[in-house]
Amino acid sequence: MNRAWLIELLLPGLYLIVALFLGLLVGNLGWWLVLALALTLARHLRELDRLERWLRNGRRRHPPQSWGVWGEVFEHYYRLQRRYYKRKKRLARVIHEFRESTAAMPDGSIVLDSEFRIKWFNDAARDTLRLSSQNDLGQSILNLLRSPDFMRYVRSGNYELPVYLMSPVDESRTLSARLIPYGREQYLLMIRDVTRLQRLQTMRRDFVANASHELRSPITVLSGYLESLESAGELGPDWDGPMAEMQAQCRRMTHLINDLLELSRLETEDAEASERARVEVPSLLARIVQSARIEDREAHEIDFEAEEGLDLVGEEGELHSAFSNLIINALRYTPSGGRIRVRWRSSADGGAVFEVQDEGIGIEEKHLPFITQRFYRVNSAHSRRQGGTGLGLAIVKHVLQRHRARLDVQSTVGKGSTFSCHFPAVRVRRIEVRAG
Ligand code: ADP
Repeated sequence: MNRAWLIELLLPGLYLIVALFLGLLVGNLGWWLVLALALTLARHLRELDRLERWLRNGRRRHPPQSWGVWGEVFEHYYRLQRRYYKRKKRLARVIHEFRESTAAMPDGSIVLDSEFRIKWFNDAARDTLRLSSQNDLGQSILNLLRSPDFMRYVRSGNYELPVYLMSPVDESRTLSARLIPYGREQYLLMIRDVTRLQRLQTMRRDFVANASHELRSPITVLSGYLESLESAGELGPDWDGPMAEMQAQCRRMTHLINDLLELSRLETEDAEASERARVEVPSLLARIVQSARIEDREAHEIDFEAEEGLDLVGEEGELHSAFSNLIINALRYTPSGGRIRVRWRSSADGGAVFEVQDEGIGIEEKHLPFITQRFYRVNSAHSRRQGGTGLGLAIVKHVLQRHRARLDVQSTVGKGSTFSCHFPAVRVRRIEVRAG
Protein backbone atom coordinates (compact mmCIF):
# COMPACT_ATOMS: atom_id res chain seq x y z
CA MET A 1 0.00 0.00 0.00
CA ASN A 2 1.48 3.38 -0.90
CA ARG A 3 1.94 6.33 1.41
CA ALA A 4 -1.05 8.37 0.14
CA TRP A 5 -3.45 5.51 0.87
CA LEU A 6 -1.92 4.96 4.34
CA ILE A 7 -2.46 8.64 5.20
CA GLU A 8 -5.92 8.52 3.66
CA LEU A 9 -6.96 5.55 5.81
CA LEU A 10 -5.33 6.99 8.92
CA LEU A 11 -8.00 9.70 9.31
CA PRO A 12 -11.14 7.46 9.30
CA GLY A 13 -9.18 5.06 11.55
CA LEU A 14 -8.51 7.89 13.98
CA TYR A 15 -12.18 8.99 13.86
CA LEU A 16 -13.20 5.39 14.57
CA ILE A 17 -10.89 5.03 17.58
CA VAL A 18 -12.10 8.36 19.06
CA ALA A 19 -15.75 7.34 18.43
CA LEU A 20 -15.14 3.98 20.14
CA PHE A 21 -13.45 5.64 23.08
CA LEU A 22 -16.18 8.27 23.52
CA GLY A 23 -18.95 5.67 23.01
CA LEU A 24 -17.52 3.44 25.72
CA LEU A 25 -16.99 6.45 28.00
CA VAL A 26 -20.28 8.29 27.66
CA GLY A 27 -22.52 5.73 25.90
CA ASN A 28 -24.42 6.02 22.54
CA LEU A 29 -21.66 4.17 20.68
CA GLY A 30 -23.82 3.95 17.50
CA TRP A 31 -24.18 7.75 17.22
CA TRP A 32 -20.47 8.30 17.76
CA LEU A 33 -19.74 5.82 14.93
CA VAL A 34 -22.22 7.59 12.62
CA LEU A 35 -20.51 10.90 13.41
CA ALA A 36 -17.10 9.41 12.53
CA LEU A 37 -18.45 8.15 9.16
CA ALA A 38 -20.16 11.51 8.46
CA LEU A 39 -16.89 13.36 9.06
CA THR A 40 -15.07 11.03 6.65
CA LEU A 41 -17.82 11.48 4.05
CA ALA A 42 -17.74 15.25 4.47
CA ARG A 43 -14.02 15.35 3.62
CA HIS A 44 -14.58 13.35 0.41
CA LEU A 45 -17.55 15.49 -0.62
CA ARG A 46 -15.53 18.65 -0.07
CA GLU A 47 -12.60 17.38 -2.18
CA LEU A 48 -15.03 16.27 -4.92
CA ASP A 49 -16.52 19.75 -4.94
CA ARG A 50 -13.04 21.34 -5.28
CA LEU A 51 -12.18 18.98 -8.13
CA GLU A 52 -15.42 19.75 -9.93
CA ARG A 53 -14.90 23.51 -9.55
CA TRP A 54 -11.31 23.31 -10.74
CA LEU A 55 -12.34 21.30 -13.86
CA ARG A 56 -15.23 23.68 -14.51
CA ASN A 57 -12.92 26.72 -14.40
CA GLY A 58 -10.84 25.49 -17.29
CA ARG A 59 -8.18 23.47 -15.46
CA ARG A 60 -5.64 26.16 -16.34
CA ARG A 61 -4.71 27.20 -12.83
CA HIS A 62 -2.68 25.10 -10.47
CA PRO A 63 -4.85 22.33 -8.95
CA PRO A 64 -6.21 22.72 -5.38
CA GLN A 65 -3.79 21.68 -2.66
CA SER A 66 -4.75 18.53 -0.81
CA TRP A 67 -3.29 15.56 0.93
CA GLY A 68 -3.79 11.76 0.86
CA VAL A 69 -5.27 10.10 -2.21
CA TRP A 70 -7.02 13.34 -3.23
CA GLY A 71 -3.68 15.14 -3.35
CA GLU A 72 -2.34 12.37 -5.65
CA VAL A 73 -5.47 12.54 -7.86
CA PHE A 74 -5.07 16.33 -8.32
CA GLU A 75 -1.37 15.98 -9.04
CA HIS A 76 -1.78 13.13 -11.60
CA TYR A 77 -4.54 14.94 -13.37
CA TYR A 78 -2.52 18.13 -13.53
CA ARG A 79 0.51 16.30 -14.94
CA LEU A 80 -1.62 14.58 -17.63
CA GLN A 81 -3.10 17.90 -18.47
CA ARG A 82 0.27 19.55 -18.91
CA ARG A 83 1.53 16.72 -21.09
CA TYR A 84 -1.58 17.03 -23.29
CA TYR A 85 -1.14 20.79 -23.68
CA LYS A 86 2.54 20.41 -24.57
CA ARG A 87 1.72 17.81 -27.24
CA LYS A 88 -1.06 20.00 -28.62
CA LYS A 89 1.30 22.96 -28.83
CA ARG A 90 3.98 20.89 -30.58
CA LEU A 91 1.42 19.61 -33.09
CA ALA A 92 0.08 23.08 -33.74
CA ARG A 93 3.66 24.27 -34.36
CA VAL A 94 4.31 21.42 -36.84
CA ILE A 95 1.06 22.18 -38.69
CA HIS A 96 1.91 25.86 -38.74
CA GLU A 97 5.41 25.19 -40.11
CA PHE A 98 4.01 22.77 -42.69
CA ARG A 99 1.45 25.32 -43.84
CA GLU A 100 4.08 28.04 -44.00
CA SER A 101 6.40 25.86 -46.08
CA THR A 102 3.62 24.75 -48.51
CA ALA A 103 2.38 28.31 -48.69
CA ALA A 104 5.87 29.42 -49.74
CA MET A 105 6.17 26.68 -52.41
CA PRO A 106 6.43 28.02 -55.96
CA ASP A 107 3.95 25.37 -57.17
CA GLY A 108 0.27 25.67 -56.41
CA SER A 109 -0.96 23.12 -53.86
CA ILE A 110 -4.62 22.56 -53.10
CA VAL A 111 -5.94 20.15 -50.48
CA LEU A 112 -9.13 18.40 -51.62
CA ASP A 113 -11.53 16.14 -49.73
CA SER A 114 -12.95 12.82 -50.99
CA GLU A 115 -15.51 14.71 -53.14
CA PHE A 116 -12.74 16.89 -54.64
CA ARG A 117 -13.94 19.95 -52.69
CA ILE A 118 -11.31 22.56 -51.85
CA LYS A 119 -10.26 22.48 -48.19
CA TRP A 120 -7.13 24.58 -48.33
CA PHE A 121 -4.78 26.18 -50.89
CA ASN A 122 -1.46 27.99 -50.84
CA ASP A 123 -0.48 31.41 -52.18
CA ALA A 124 0.81 30.06 -55.51
CA ALA A 125 -2.50 28.25 -56.17
CA ARG A 126 -4.38 31.42 -55.28
CA ASP A 127 -2.31 33.42 -57.78
CA THR A 128 -2.32 30.82 -60.58
CA LEU A 129 -6.05 30.08 -60.41
CA ARG A 130 -7.22 33.34 -58.81
CA LEU A 131 -8.81 31.48 -55.93
CA SER A 132 -10.37 33.32 -53.03
CA SER A 133 -10.86 31.88 -49.56
CA GLN A 134 -14.32 33.43 -49.30
CA ASN A 135 -15.83 32.07 -52.50
CA ASP A 136 -13.86 28.97 -53.35
CA LEU A 137 -13.31 27.06 -50.12
CA GLY A 138 -15.75 24.15 -50.11
CA GLN A 139 -16.31 24.36 -53.91
CA SER A 140 -15.61 21.33 -56.07
CA ILE A 141 -12.39 21.75 -58.06
CA LEU A 142 -14.31 20.36 -61.08
CA ASN A 143 -16.42 23.55 -61.06
CA LEU A 144 -13.30 25.67 -61.32
CA LEU A 145 -11.17 23.64 -63.71
CA ARG A 146 -13.68 22.69 -66.38
CA SER A 147 -11.27 21.29 -69.00
CA PRO A 148 -12.61 17.93 -70.33
CA ASP A 149 -9.10 16.44 -70.08
CA PHE A 150 -8.91 17.40 -66.42
CA MET A 151 -12.36 15.96 -65.69
CA ARG A 152 -11.46 12.71 -67.43
CA TYR A 153 -8.19 12.62 -65.47
CA VAL A 154 -9.90 13.11 -62.11
CA ARG A 155 -12.50 10.43 -62.86
CA SER A 156 -9.95 7.95 -64.25
CA GLY A 157 -8.44 7.28 -60.81
CA ASN A 158 -5.00 6.92 -62.41
CA TYR A 159 -2.89 9.82 -61.15
CA GLU A 160 0.60 8.57 -61.97
CA LEU A 161 1.22 11.23 -64.63
CA PRO A 162 0.16 14.88 -64.70
CA VAL A 163 -2.51 16.22 -67.02
CA TYR A 164 -2.08 19.40 -69.08
CA LEU A 165 -4.79 22.03 -69.33
CA MET A 166 -5.32 25.59 -70.39
CA SER A 167 -5.23 28.07 -67.51
CA PRO A 168 -8.82 29.12 -66.64
CA VAL A 169 -7.64 32.70 -66.06
CA ASP A 170 -5.29 33.17 -69.03
CA GLU A 171 -5.82 31.13 -72.18
CA SER A 172 -2.24 31.65 -73.35
CA ARG A 173 -0.85 29.72 -70.42
CA THR A 174 -0.61 25.97 -69.98
CA LEU A 175 -0.82 24.32 -66.58
CA SER A 176 0.18 20.86 -65.48
CA ALA A 177 -1.99 19.35 -62.75
CA ARG A 178 -1.28 16.24 -60.72
CA LEU A 179 -3.41 14.65 -58.02
CA ILE A 180 -1.64 12.95 -55.14
CA PRO A 181 -3.93 10.81 -52.96
CA TYR A 182 -3.03 10.66 -49.26
CA GLY A 183 -4.55 9.78 -45.90
CA ARG A 184 -8.22 8.78 -45.94
CA GLU A 185 -9.48 9.72 -49.40
CA GLN A 186 -7.82 13.12 -49.34
CA TYR A 187 -6.01 14.59 -52.32
CA LEU A 188 -3.27 17.10 -52.86
CA LEU A 189 -3.56 18.81 -56.23
CA MET A 190 -0.26 20.19 -57.49
CA ILE A 191 -0.56 22.90 -60.14
CA ARG A 192 2.40 24.16 -62.13
CA ASP A 193 2.66 26.72 -64.90
CA VAL A 194 4.51 24.92 -67.72
CA THR A 195 4.02 27.50 -70.46
CA ARG A 196 7.75 28.23 -70.85
CA LEU A 197 8.68 24.56 -70.90
CA GLN A 198 6.02 23.80 -73.49
CA ARG A 199 7.17 26.69 -75.66
CA LEU A 200 10.74 25.40 -75.53
CA GLN A 201 9.59 21.89 -76.43
CA THR A 202 7.54 23.19 -79.35
CA MET A 203 10.51 25.22 -80.54
CA ARG A 204 12.76 22.16 -80.39
CA ARG A 205 10.22 20.00 -82.22
CA ASP A 206 9.68 22.62 -84.90
CA PHE A 207 13.42 23.07 -85.33
CA VAL A 208 14.01 19.32 -85.80
CA ALA A 209 11.07 19.04 -88.22
CA ASN A 210 12.19 22.06 -90.27
CA ALA A 211 15.84 21.04 -90.36
CA SER A 212 14.86 17.52 -91.47
CA HIS A 213 12.63 18.90 -94.23
CA GLU A 214 15.41 21.19 -95.42
CA LEU A 215 17.91 18.32 -95.50
CA ARG A 216 15.62 16.05 -97.47
CA SER A 217 15.94 17.80 -100.85
CA PRO A 218 19.77 17.99 -101.02
CA ILE A 219 20.01 14.31 -100.09
CA THR A 220 17.51 13.35 -102.78
CA VAL A 221 19.53 15.33 -105.35
CA LEU A 222 22.80 13.70 -104.24
CA SER A 223 21.28 10.20 -104.36
CA GLY A 224 19.92 10.88 -107.84
CA TYR A 225 23.30 12.01 -109.16
CA LEU A 226 25.05 9.04 -107.57
CA GLU A 227 22.63 6.65 -109.22
CA SER A 228 23.07 8.32 -112.62
CA LEU A 229 26.85 8.22 -112.26
CA GLU A 230 26.72 4.54 -111.39
CA SER A 231 24.42 3.58 -114.24
CA ALA A 232 26.50 5.64 -116.75
CA GLY A 233 29.41 3.33 -115.85
CA GLU A 234 31.95 6.00 -116.80
CA LEU A 235 33.88 5.84 -113.59
CA GLY A 236 36.62 3.23 -113.46
CA PRO A 237 36.64 0.22 -111.07
CA ASP A 238 38.69 2.32 -108.62
CA TRP A 239 35.46 4.15 -107.88
CA ASP A 240 33.37 1.06 -107.06
CA GLY A 241 34.27 1.17 -103.36
CA PRO A 242 33.79 4.95 -102.83
CA MET A 243 30.56 4.89 -104.87
CA ALA A 244 29.10 2.08 -102.75
CA GLU A 245 30.14 3.94 -99.57
CA MET A 246 28.58 7.22 -100.80
CA GLN A 247 25.34 5.47 -101.66
CA ALA A 248 25.26 3.72 -98.28
CA GLN A 249 25.79 7.05 -96.51
CA CYS A 250 23.02 8.65 -98.58
CA ARG A 251 20.66 5.82 -97.61
CA ARG A 252 21.64 6.24 -93.98
CA MET A 253 20.96 9.98 -94.12
CA THR A 254 17.58 9.34 -95.75
CA HIS A 255 16.71 6.86 -92.95
CA LEU A 256 17.83 9.30 -90.32
CA ILE A 257 15.76 12.14 -91.77
CA ASN A 258 12.70 9.93 -92.13
CA ASP A 259 13.05 8.71 -88.54
CA LEU A 260 13.55 12.25 -87.25
CA LEU A 261 10.45 13.45 -89.09
CA GLU A 262 8.40 10.54 -87.80
CA LEU A 263 9.58 11.07 -84.24
CA SER A 264 8.87 14.79 -84.29
CA ARG A 265 5.39 14.09 -85.69
CA LEU A 266 4.74 11.53 -82.92
CA GLU A 267 5.99 13.96 -80.28
CA THR A 268 3.69 16.68 -81.58
CA GLU A 269 0.65 14.43 -81.28
CA ASP A 270 -0.05 14.62 -77.57
CA ALA A 271 -3.38 12.83 -77.59
CA GLU A 272 -3.94 9.11 -77.82
CA ALA A 273 -4.14 7.42 -81.21
CA SER A 274 -7.69 7.35 -82.55
CA GLU A 275 -9.82 4.34 -81.63
CA ARG A 276 -11.90 4.58 -84.78
CA ALA A 277 -9.76 2.62 -87.24
CA ARG A 278 -9.37 -1.11 -86.89
CA VAL A 279 -5.94 -2.53 -87.74
CA GLU A 280 -5.81 -6.16 -88.87
CA VAL A 281 -2.63 -7.02 -87.03
CA PRO A 282 -2.04 -10.60 -88.34
CA SER A 283 -2.00 -9.48 -91.98
CA LEU A 284 0.02 -6.34 -91.14
CA LEU A 285 2.63 -8.51 -89.40
CA ALA A 286 2.64 -11.03 -92.27
CA ARG A 287 3.52 -8.18 -94.66
CA ILE A 288 6.27 -6.85 -92.36
CA VAL A 289 7.77 -10.33 -91.89
CA GLN A 290 7.67 -10.99 -95.63
CA SER A 291 9.54 -7.82 -96.50
CA ALA A 292 11.99 -8.44 -93.63
CA ARG A 293 12.74 -11.89 -95.12
CA ILE A 294 13.33 -10.36 -98.55
CA GLU A 295 15.60 -7.61 -97.26
CA ASP A 296 17.50 -9.82 -94.82
CA ARG A 297 20.92 -10.55 -96.30
CA GLU A 298 22.23 -12.68 -93.46
CA ALA A 299 20.03 -15.77 -93.79
CA HIS A 300 18.24 -15.45 -90.46
CA GLU A 301 15.36 -17.80 -89.77
CA ILE A 302 12.17 -15.90 -88.95
CA ASP A 303 9.60 -18.00 -87.14
CA PHE A 304 6.24 -16.20 -87.24
CA GLU A 305 2.93 -17.01 -85.54
CA ALA A 306 -0.08 -14.73 -85.17
CA GLU A 307 -3.46 -15.37 -83.57
CA GLU A 308 -6.06 -14.95 -86.30
CA GLY A 309 -8.86 -12.50 -85.63
CA LEU A 310 -6.89 -10.64 -82.96
CA ASP A 311 -6.86 -6.97 -84.02
CA LEU A 312 -6.17 -3.54 -82.57
CA VAL A 313 -7.76 -0.15 -82.91
CA GLY A 314 -5.27 2.60 -83.68
CA GLU A 315 -3.03 4.07 -86.35
CA GLU A 316 -1.93 1.44 -88.84
CA GLY A 317 1.07 3.45 -90.10
CA GLU A 318 2.41 3.96 -86.57
CA LEU A 319 1.92 0.32 -85.58
CA HIS A 320 3.63 -0.77 -88.81
CA SER A 321 6.59 1.43 -87.91
CA ALA A 322 6.84 0.15 -84.30
CA PHE A 323 6.53 -3.55 -85.20
CA SER A 324 8.97 -3.35 -88.11
CA ASN A 325 11.50 -1.41 -86.01
CA LEU A 326 11.51 -4.22 -83.43
CA ILE A 327 11.82 -6.94 -86.10
CA ILE A 328 14.60 -5.05 -87.94
CA ASN A 329 16.47 -4.58 -84.64
CA ALA A 330 16.25 -8.32 -83.95
CA LEU A 331 17.77 -9.02 -87.38
CA ARG A 332 20.34 -6.26 -86.95
CA TYR A 333 21.66 -7.49 -83.61
CA THR A 334 21.54 -11.25 -84.29
CA PRO A 335 24.50 -12.89 -86.05
CA SER A 336 24.03 -14.62 -89.42
CA GLY A 337 21.81 -17.68 -89.43
CA GLY A 338 20.31 -16.91 -85.98
CA ARG A 339 16.61 -17.51 -85.26
CA ILE A 340 14.04 -14.80 -84.61
CA ARG A 341 10.60 -15.60 -83.19
CA VAL A 342 7.76 -13.19 -83.86
CA ARG A 343 4.52 -13.78 -81.93
CA TRP A 344 1.13 -12.05 -81.79
CA ARG A 345 -1.22 -13.48 -79.14
CA SER A 346 -3.88 -12.57 -76.64
CA SER A 347 -2.93 -12.19 -72.99
CA ALA A 348 -4.69 -13.41 -69.84
CA ASP A 349 -5.94 -9.90 -68.92
CA GLY A 350 -7.96 -9.55 -72.14
CA GLY A 351 -5.22 -7.57 -73.88
CA ALA A 352 -2.75 -8.65 -76.56
CA VAL A 353 1.03 -9.05 -76.77
CA PHE A 354 3.40 -8.55 -79.67
CA GLU A 355 6.70 -10.26 -78.97
CA VAL A 356 10.00 -10.42 -80.83
CA GLN A 357 12.59 -12.81 -79.47
CA ASP A 358 16.09 -13.07 -80.89
CA GLU A 359 19.26 -15.08 -80.27
CA GLY A 360 21.48 -12.07 -80.72
CA ILE A 361 24.14 -10.17 -78.83
CA GLY A 362 21.80 -9.13 -75.99
CA ILE A 363 21.94 -5.95 -73.94
CA GLU A 364 23.67 -5.44 -70.60
CA GLU A 365 21.16 -4.68 -67.83
CA LYS A 366 22.67 -1.27 -67.07
CA HIS A 367 21.75 -0.06 -70.57
CA LEU A 368 18.12 -1.23 -70.50
CA PRO A 369 16.59 1.86 -68.86
CA PHE A 370 18.11 4.09 -71.57
CA ILE A 371 17.70 2.23 -74.87
CA THR A 372 14.42 3.98 -75.73
CA GLN A 373 16.08 7.41 -75.49
CA ARG A 374 16.84 9.20 -78.76
CA PHE A 375 20.28 8.32 -80.16
CA TYR A 376 21.15 6.03 -77.26
CA ARG A 377 23.17 3.11 -78.55
CA VAL A 378 25.00 0.41 -76.63
CA ASN A 379 27.61 0.23 -79.35
CA SER A 380 27.43 3.15 -81.79
CA ALA A 381 29.87 1.71 -84.33
CA HIS A 382 27.97 -1.59 -84.53
CA SER A 383 24.61 0.20 -84.83
CA ARG A 384 25.89 2.48 -87.61
CA ARG A 385 27.45 -0.44 -89.50
CA GLN A 386 24.06 -2.13 -89.43
CA GLY A 387 22.35 1.00 -90.76
CA GLY A 388 20.84 1.98 -87.38
CA THR A 389 19.83 5.55 -86.65
CA GLY A 390 19.49 5.32 -82.86
CA LEU A 391 15.89 6.46 -83.13
CA GLY A 392 14.05 3.16 -83.69
CA LEU A 393 13.18 2.38 -80.07
CA ALA A 394 12.28 6.03 -79.34
CA ILE A 395 9.72 5.73 -82.14
CA VAL A 396 8.50 2.41 -80.71
CA LYS A 397 8.08 3.95 -77.26
CA HIS A 398 6.02 6.86 -78.58
CA VAL A 399 3.80 4.70 -80.76
CA LEU A 400 3.12 2.38 -77.81
CA GLN A 401 2.35 5.31 -75.54
CA ARG A 402 -0.18 6.59 -78.05
CA HIS A 403 -1.84 3.16 -78.03
CA ARG A 404 -1.73 2.86 -74.21
CA ALA A 405 0.69 -0.05 -74.55
CA ARG A 406 3.81 -0.86 -72.55
CA LEU A 407 7.22 -2.07 -73.72
CA ASP A 408 8.92 -4.81 -71.74
CA VAL A 409 12.53 -5.82 -72.50
CA GLN A 410 14.25 -8.96 -71.23
CA SER A 411 17.82 -9.54 -72.30
CA THR A 412 20.90 -11.63 -71.55
CA VAL A 413 24.25 -10.70 -73.04
CA GLY A 414 25.37 -13.30 -75.57
CA LYS A 415 22.04 -15.16 -75.46
CA GLY A 416 19.49 -12.74 -76.89
CA SER A 417 16.65 -10.36 -76.14
CA THR A 418 12.86 -10.40 -76.00
CA PHE A 419 10.95 -7.19 -76.71
CA SER A 420 7.24 -7.43 -75.79
CA CYS A 421 4.56 -4.83 -76.39
CA HIS A 422 1.56 -5.25 -74.08
CA PHE A 423 -1.67 -3.75 -75.42
CA PRO A 424 -4.55 -3.21 -72.98
CA ALA A 425 -7.99 -4.77 -73.51
CA VAL A 426 -9.53 -1.41 -74.52
CA ARG A 427 -7.39 -1.36 -77.65
CA VAL A 428 -8.04 -4.99 -78.65
CA ARG A 429 -10.80 -6.18 -81.01
CA ARG A 430 -11.51 -9.83 -81.74
CA ILE A 431 -13.41 -11.69 -84.43
CA GLU A 432 -14.38 -15.25 -83.65
CA VAL A 433 -12.57 -17.53 -86.09
CA ARG A 434 -14.62 -20.68 -86.72
CA ALA A 435 -12.66 -23.88 -86.91
CA GLY A 436 -13.03 -25.97 -90.11
P1 ADP B 1 19.45 1.61 -83.60
O1 ADP B 1 19.00 2.29 -84.81
O2 ADP B 1 20.84 1.96 -83.17
O3 ADP B 1 19.17 0.14 -83.60
P2 ADP B 1 17.34 1.73 -81.64
O4 ADP B 1 16.70 2.88 -80.97
O5 ADP B 1 16.49 0.84 -82.46
O6 ADP B 1 18.57 2.29 -82.44
O7 ADP B 1 18.02 0.85 -80.50
C1 ADP B 1 18.83 1.48 -79.53
C2 ADP B 1 19.96 0.56 -79.09
O8 ADP B 1 19.39 -0.55 -78.37
C3 ADP B 1 20.70 -0.06 -80.24
O9 ADP B 1 21.75 0.77 -80.70
C4 ADP B 1 21.23 -1.35 -79.62
O10 ADP B 1 22.42 -1.07 -78.90
C5 ADP B 1 20.15 -1.74 -78.64
N1 ADP B 1 19.24 -2.75 -79.19
C6 ADP B 1 18.01 -2.55 -79.72
N2 ADP B 1 17.43 -3.71 -80.08
C7 ADP B 1 18.31 -4.69 -79.78
C8 ADP B 1 18.32 -6.12 -79.91
N3 ADP B 1 17.28 -6.79 -80.43
N4 ADP B 1 19.41 -6.78 -79.47
C9 ADP B 1 20.46 -6.13 -78.93
N5 ADP B 1 20.53 -4.79 -78.78
C10 ADP B 1 19.48 -4.07 -79.20
